[in-house]
Amino acid sequence: MSIDEGTEKLIKVIALKNAIEHGGKAQLDAVISKLMGSRPELRAKIKQIVADMSALVREVNSMTLEAQRALMADLAPEQGSKEKEKEKERHDASQPHLPPLEGAVGGQVVTRFPPEPNGYPHIGHAKAAIIDEEYARMYSGRLVLRFDDTNPLKERAEYYDAIREGLEWLGVKPDLEKNTSDDISLLHSYGRKLIEAGGAYVCTCSTDRIHDLRGKGLPCECRSESADILERTDKIFGGSYRQNEAIIRFKGDMSDPNTAMRDPTLFRIIEGNHPLLGDKVTLWPTYDFAAPIEDSHDGVTHAMRTKEYELRNELYFAILDRLQLRKPRLLEFSRLEFDGLPVSKRKITPLVQEGILSGWDDPRLPTLAALRRRGFVPQAIRRFVLSLGLTLADTKPPFETLEAFNRKIIDPLCMRLYFVPDPVEVKVLNVTPAKAVLKNHPVLDLGSRTVGVYDSVYISGKDAEGLKAGDVLRLMELYNIRISSTADLKSGSKSDPDSSESAYSPEKHEPREQKTASAPSVIVAEYAGNEVVQSMPKVQWVAKGDEVPFKVLVPKELYVGEEYNKNSLEVIQGFAESFISTLKRGTEIQLVRFGFCSIDSSNSAILTHR
Ligand code: ATP
Ligand code: MG
Repeated sequence: MSIDEGTEKLIKVIALKNAIEHGGKAQLDAVISKLMGSRPELRAKIKQIVADMSALVREVNSMTLEAQRALMADLAPEQGSKEKEKEKERHDASQPHLPPLEGAVGGQVVTRFPPEPNGYPHIGHAKAAIIDEEYARMYSGRLVLRFDDTNPLKERAEYYDAIREGLEWLGVKPDLEKNTSDDISLLHSYGRKLIEAGGAYVCTCSTDRIHDLRGKGLPCECRSESADILERTDKIFGGSYRQNEAIIRFKGDMSDPNTAMRDPTLFRIIEGNHPLLGDKVTLWPTYDFAAPIEDSHDGVTHAMRTKEYELRNELYFAILDRLQLRKPRLLEFSRLEFDGLPVSKRKITPLVQEGILSGWDDPRLPTLAALRRRGFVPQAIRRFVLSLGLTLADTKPPFETLEAFNRKIIDPLCMRLYFVPDPVEVKVLNVTPAKAVLKNHPVLDLGSRTVGVYDSVYISGKDAEGLKAGDVLRLMELYNIRISSTADLKSGSKSDPDSSESAYSPEKHEPREQKTASAPSVIVAEYAGNEVVQSMPKVQWVAKGDEVPFKVLVPKELYVGEEYNKNSLEVIQGFAESFISTLKRGTEIQLVRFGFCSIDSSNSAILTHR
């Protein structure tokens, strides 16, 4: 070490602080700049000390977050307690803090979550469902799950099930489940009533003409009293019109500045096969008509929806007014999605249907099925949603915020295992074969595994890269080695440039032959004792003979701007301990110095997050 003890301690404290603030990984740059800020006289010596700093940062980064906190409390107790306070604040912030509901009476609040079964539920649906449920519980009220299934061309039985399953996984338990389609006769009768009361009419104009007149703010002939209203009404309810021949329109105001009031469509004819009603019904209400009536009819007191419906609120209340039905309160919140991870079905569905994604649970998607497969836990999603509160601003929170909530829950629970990407063999001389007992968790009693180490291990290509003769490093939980000679790492065993694959489907991408598996023995080292020295780089390893080829799928942004990102799935190949093949699909583990992963098959995992 070219630095004194005091400086070493300061660097450690800075690195620990930086690591703790960033989920366990300190950045060398950040540590250097902090150090130079507090000890400007070291600027002149930066070249001499950077290697030591890098070793200290690596050491800190090889520790678990808990171990980092413990060491921090040891080295700098005052920082430790500051950290604890911050942690407490963060924790408090993660507790439900939805504002009170206006006009809510204990025991009488009814909320509803009305998904359309036209796709898989996603993180945005989770937000809506969780808020609806939290309010129902907050006031000892009820939550209604209502499948808003009024378009036979879009709904599918598979999607009802997927939504139910997603909610169950999230822990959202509706008190009542129903379908808008259950009430189709009721909706028809309200439609007829509205026409009879002069609040709606049958329009037989073409779509283009309707669009054109709406733009100009002019009425069409169908609207006038003289049109044969009764005959047309009987005809549309009797099923005598075909698709696109007629619609029912609300009699609003064709010159209203709010275009949502310019005689919007209330019913249209759709000839399709509905998953629940088959082809019996062809006259289907729009969302604009069904939502207010259903909400009112279901006893909903507080109906929440995303902000883009705001201009339609006037119509919602106008329909209820004309039909003299009870009016729920309407509340808005912002849409939730992440940058680069769209929730829009327009962007997702084609990628699923064309097989570009492996399915609705492809780990690159923000669907609940994907988040689950990727290793997110429902409690993290709930805490995350509640931490956002009821904001109206459409900001896209960083995905890292959700990751942080998840990491905090899974970090103390999951098993640690070794995985070496781009493996490089290290042959250790002067060593007696050993049986290493590796703890499955540094703190919790999750058992251990015993691995026989003869004289060769694999380390990751990245760790091998900078090594030179004379370097000493620690093979974690095993022993120290001193490098005798290094290999020409450029020939063959460095990371494979084609390992980043654009499209992934389990069938298409069988695990490939490991180029690295046949790489010649490269690094020679010798046993260098067993004493744990803080400043020594500590690296994970896999014993030769115990290795299994393993790959980790790393999901990246699905969209860059408006374009599908062809590099949205990186595949990292390497060796893992054979123990990994015994783990069940869905087991969450931490691959030491790599990241948290969800086991996806006997030879692959998905990166949950670092
Ligand atoms: P999309 O079709 O783009 O997924 P949608 O609004 O048509 O969105 P629905 O199934 O009709 O999807 O939505 C059901 C409920 O979930 C509605 O109350 C809606 O406001 C809410 N919701 C949908 N997407 C989001 C989102 N991204 N953020 C918050 N709430 C959402
Ligand atoms: Mg919708």
